[in-house]
Amino acid sequence: MTNAPQASPIPLSVPEIKGREWEYVKECLDTGWVSSVGPFVDRFEREFAQALGAPHAVAVASGTAALHLALLVAGVRPGDLVIAPTLTFVASINAIRYVGADPILVDAEPDHWLLDPQLVTRLLEDDCERDGDEVRHRATGRRVAAIMPVDLLGHPCDYGQLRPLADRFAIPIVEDATEGLGARVGEHSIGSQADLACYSFNGNKLITTGGGGMLVTADADWARRARHLSTQAKADPVEYVHDDVGFNYRMTNVQAAIGCAQLERLDEFVATKRRIAERYDAAFASIPGILPQGEAPGVTSAIWLYTIRVDAARFGRDARGLMAQLAGRGIQSRPLFQPLHLGPIYRYAPRAGGAVAERLWDEGLSLPCSVGLAPADQDRVISAVREAAGADVH
Ligand SMILES: *Cc1c(COP(=O)(O)O)cnc(C)c1O
Repeated sequence: MTNAPQASPIPLSVPEIKGREWEYVKECLDTGWVSSVGPFVDRFEREFAQALGAPHAVAVASGTAALHLALLVAGVRPGDLVIAPTLTFVASINAIRYVGADPILVDAEPDHWLLDPQLVTRLLEDDCERDGDEVRHRATGRRVAAIMPVDLLGHPCDYGQLRPLADRFAIPIVEDATEGLGARVGEHSIGSQADLACYSFNGNKLITTGGGGMLVTADADWARRARHLSTQAKADPVEYVHDDVGFNYRMTNVQAAIGCAQLERLDEFVATKRRIAERYDAAFASIPGILPQGEAPGVTSAIWLYTIRVDAARFGRDARGLMAQLAGRGIQSRPLFQPLHLGPIYRYAPRAGGAVAERLWDEGLSLPCSVGLAPADQDRVISAVREAAGADVH
């Protein structure tokens, strides 16, 4: 063959929609249940709670909406502070601002790149003081009202340390588990260590509803209040009487129908992702300077995005250089988030550390890991990484 066809591009991560999505959506359209109430919404909430072993689940319009509502029902008020990682997607921190609070941005730990529990401990023990039932940040005099760990890239945060710490200071954990669905902490599903946990079904997440989110909690009152606020805080189902400033944050029946079909395949998706990760790990073990996020003992990562650190000195090329090489071969890859303390929006925020996150921004690169990634395509990614390495590694 003289004119070999161009190898098709390999995207970073695309949804896998090959289950009963069509069937369930058709049911919505055939029955006219397309909007923000309907049997699939109830069913998705029930089955999602069941899948996670969680008492209550409230379906909402997005992961961001779930975070906003979670902070509200946790009682975070204007002027409060929320402990959160600087290395996260901006939506986590924006939700803190939506309720009028501000973040204290905490660095990542170097092993698996998550909210550093040592820094959170030091922050609470050394920089805060108790004031009755409340914990006050000494430098600003403001109340610390919540801790928001983010299960970055699908890897659970260190709840073995964070949960007892939150209990000791009586501060709720509002977990941003939007990237963590499918992960486990010991025998428990991700989110089980939090007072409120939030999930996303955006198109780039492990399961998708096109766009959507879920709020999960063991507290029946909080679940009721979140549902109430998500539906314009209707005090009466018939009369237009509202008892609070609510939101239009409900998920539609069509979205929930897709969600039900996606949820049926959750375990299979996670198993596939973990197989992809194992294959990458094995291949990269022999390439100097390619360092995967890995997995802490006792937890199971969902591998939302398979991500490596590129040690330029050992690899012979930096992360952006590798990204350009891969792009030249039609392979999409992506750096990590810019640490929020460096960006224009949250530069002002109080913080603890930041150097680890900065280094991760410099060195981190996510590689293709769609559920549908074919082994031959994964081999192409591996070969391309190997070829991009310094000359002595071929
Ligand atoms: C995706 C994501 C969100 C927001 O979820 P949406 O459904 O897109 O609103 C929040 N935090 C993190 C860490 C995310 O990755």
